[in-house]
Amino acid sequence: MSNGLHFRPTRAEISMSALQHNAQVARHHAGKCNLLGVIKADGYGHGAITVARAISGTVDAFAVAFIDEALQLREAGFNQPIVLLEGCFSEAELPVCAHYNLQPVVHHQGQIDAILNARLVKPLAVWLKTDTGMHRLGFPPAAVKEATQQLENCPQVASVTLMTHFANAEVADDALNQVQQQRFAELCASTSPTTALSSANTAALLSSAIDLGTDPGQWCRTGILLYGVNPTSHARTEPLQAAMRLTAPVIALRDVAAGAAVGYGSRWHAGRPSRIATLAIGYADGYPRHAPNGTPVWLNGQRVPLAGTVSMDMITLDVTELESVAIGDEAELWGPNLPVATVADAIGTISYELLCRVSPRVPRHCK
Ligand SMILES: *Cc1c(COP(=O)(O)O)cnc(C)c1O
Repeated sequence: MSNGLHFRPTRAEISMSALQHNAQVARHHAGKCNLLGVIKADGYGHGAITVARAISGTVDAFAVAFIDEALQLREAGFNQPIVLLEGCFSEAELPVCAHYNLQPVVHHQGQIDAILNARLVKPLAVWLKTDTGMHRLGFPPAAVKEATQQLENCPQVASVTLMTHFANAEVADDALNQVQQQRFAELCASTSPTTALSSANTAALLSSAIDLGTDPGQWCRTGILLYGVNPTSHARTEPLQAAMRLTAPVIALRDVAAGAAVGYGSRWHAGRPSRIATLAIGYADGYPRHAPNGTPVWLNGQRVPLAGTVSMDMITLDVTELESVAIGDEAELWGPNLPVATVADAIGTISYELLCRVSPRVPRHCK
């Protein structure tokens, strides 16, 4: 990524204070529960190490998708527990997990068998995943008792945390929320009281429609909230702060006649004599190519519309309505002035995808 010289001004500014603020909001919502800071996919594109540094005092542990992401944090000196949300792909990872205190999710029998057959320097803390209705990962509820027993009777296992994941927690009145909650509650009632529990992602944590129960030892897994996004439309939080500000400079300006076409495929036509600004950011930087005409960009204090197809390195904006604009002016693609969720809505995706797809050629600047 960054190896000294940077001339290109396109950048993603990462705000440590925003990350810290949002982590405090998560902490507040989690109450007495433990908080797992989810920093997979390079901290949702913000830089996992940056995020870990910002939130390590506020969360109780970290979660990533897989072992390589965890080892990057260990190499950077973080020694909190780290949960591997996809679990291990092969038994070769188990001794590494034991050595580095990584806590794999266990979601199929092959992973249990591997643990039973492993010889480890230290027993593992594992997270047993049950599929309460999302149908992506985990043991069916009927298989949980047997899986729990196998793990709890295994000397290679130090502890078991029973977990599940909601499919539709963003939607307040989705019927599946109640179904999943009910199935999980039944399982929890039948497990030993020493088993720790974890069901909530950000949306479930914020949603009053999902009752997380009263177990103070449970773990809330929060990702997107840390980055300043409320993924629900119904739940309230204290104001969040955008952790990423993605910016690019104006590198060209031109006036085009009414009827002129702009960009590849001539997808945008000037309905009147128009002023076009070209920004130095494109789909190779992670700005989605499928962003439609009209997608908002923040420039010189107002929103201006994208005009024309996104190129690999550039986009074009209709700045006819702007009072003043000059080469070198800095536009914000998303950030404190233009919520990433607003941009995601316009593009037909979600904030998660926009944030984590900012490509490595965009330097991250921490402040
Ligand atoms: C990514 C992930 C989370 C975090 O979800 P957010 O919506 O970002 O809070 C929680 N749990 C699991 C299993 C995940 O994969």
